[in-house]
Amino acid sequence: MFDGRDLLTLSEEEMRQLRGSQIGMIFQEPMTSLNPVLTIGRQITETLEQHRGATPAAANKRAEELLGLVGIADAGRRLRQYPHQLSGGMRQRAMIAIALACDPKLIIADEPTTALDVTIQAQILELMKDLTQRLNIALVVITHNLGVVARYATRVNVMYAGRIVESGSAAAIYHNPRHPYTIALLRSVPRLDRPRQARLEPVEGQPPDLTRLDGGCAFRPRCRFATEVCATARPPLTLTSEPGHTAACFHSADLTKTDQAA
Ligand code: SF4
Repeated sequence: MFDGRDLLTLSEEEMRQLRGSQIGMIFQEPMTSLNPVLTIGRQITETLEQHRGATPAAANKRAEELLGLVGIADAGRRLRQYPHQLSGGMRQRAMIAIALACDPKLIIADEPTTALDVTIQAQILELMKDLTQRLNIALVVITHNLGVVARYATRVNVMYAGRIVESGSAAAIYHNPRHPYTIALLRSVPRLDRPRQARLEPVEGQPPDLTRLDGGCAFRPRCRFATEVCATARPPLTLTSEPGHTAACFHSADLTKTDQAA
C-alpha cells in the first residue's frame, strides 16, 4: 500500500508515473546505477522533464539547486561531468539529488552506504536523515548493518525469507526482541563491551531456498526454540505485550530475558 493505493493493482504505466516521481530510489552502488555515458546534469534533468514536464532551462536550474542541497559545491561544473569524474561519496550525493528531484513522498534506500568508506557512510546517512526530515519525506532504509539501524531508524521491520518477522520501534527491537531471528542477529554483532577474545555467535545454518518453503515457519531449521508446532503453520505477525510491537513466532511470549540477552 502506498498513500492509500494498492501498488499491486496498478498497471505498468501507472507504476512508471509513480517511480521517480512520488517514490524515489537510492541504490547500493552509485557507479552501477548511474548511467556512465550521461552527464550528472542530464540524469537529473531527465527525471524533471519526464515527470514534471520541466523545460530544459528550468530543469537545469533545479538540478543546480539540488546539487547544492546535497552538498556538492561548484554545481554548474559538476552537472557537466560524468559519474567516473566524481568520488564515491559525491556519486551517492548525486543519486540522492536524483531521488529528491520530483519532491517524492517516499524514498527507498537500498543499502545506500555499503559501497562507501566508513567516514563517508556517516556523512551520507546524516545527509539523508537531515534532508528527509526537513523536506517531510518518508525514508525506508534497507540494510544489513545493525549499527546503522540503531542510530538512524525510528521503526524497524526485521525480514526473513521475504517476510516481516518482527516489527516495532527501534528501542523495542533492541531492548526487547520477541523473535528468535532478531535475537540471533543481535547476538552476531561484534560489541565493544565484550572481551576482545570473545567469539562471535553466527546464526547457524543457511537461509532457505525461497522456491522450496514448506507450510511451517521458515526460520525453523535454524531456530533453537523450534518445537513441533512450528512445522504445522506459518506463524502470523501478532501483537506482543507492547503496543505497536509485533512478532511472527509461536513462542514469542515464552522467550525469557535470558533467551533475549545478546
Ligand atoms: S515459530 Fe518456532 S521455529 Fe519459528 S521462530 Fe518461533 S520458535 Fe522458532
